[in-house]
Amino acid sequence: MGKSKKKDIIQSLKVQQEIFGDDLFIPKKKSITSVIKEPSSNYEEPELFPAEKENWEKTKSIEELEKLICDCTKCRLHQQRNKFVFGTGNPNADVLVIGEGPGAEEDKQGLPFVGRAGQLLTDMLRAIKFEREEVFIGNVVKCRPPGNRTPLPDEMETCMPYLKKQVELIQPKLILCLGLTAARGLLRKRESLGGLRGKVFEYEGAKVMVTYHSAALLRNPHWKKDCWEDLKKFRKLYEELAG
Ligand code: URA
Repeated sequence: MGKSKKKDIIQSLKVQQEIFGDDLFIPKKKSITSVIKEPSSNYEEPELFPAEKENWEKTKSIEELEKLICDCTKCRLHQQRNKFVFGTGNPNADVLVIGEGPGAEEDKQGLPFVGRAGQLLTDMLRAIKFEREEVFIGNVVKCRPPGNRTPLPDEMETCMPYLKKQVELIQPKLILCLGLTAARGLLRKRESLGGLRGKVFEYEGAKVMVTYHSAALLRNPHWKKDCWEDLKKFRKLYEELAG
């Protein structure tokens, strides 16, 4: 670094020190040119001005939540959507089913799981004695990822607070995550689907189980047998909790 550049930097640090005091500097032989303190790894930015809650965060009903978020433009997925897919079903459901994100048919109709994977999901639920109308069905992201790609981490991060709010309002006893994206989004676990299936987790007071996504079952019908075992376990857990 050239001498004059160094002088400029020192001068600018002096000005900073005059304004903000010594807190940013570690004195070294009384020189202010020593390094600015690095925050330690567990340093947490103090929330000096906590963000004002948005209206949707304050709402007390699922219908109102839908009205307040259905025009969301927080992530890139809104740009190509036809319809925002909020989710559907019983607002007081004991069971919440969570998928990944809308596909083409869902984007067209504004409803979750209405394509082929949706028909299989309806059959899976019926097999364990649930009608679609008595559960609530939603997704990790509410807008269709282009070409049905997996939602990107920042898209999931942006949309997850909506799902969290849905859980808060519905207060399900049980949650069934369909596939790895739903499981990872909700539980924030890095394990494989194999590592997550068969276990019971907790999320905001609800018990959570993970199984195959119905779209994956359409592509790999030989997984249906294992999925059936998961579903039976899920039903048993439901009966234990409801009974
Ligand atoms: N797949 C999903 O994950 N969600 C839907 O709504 C439809 C297909």
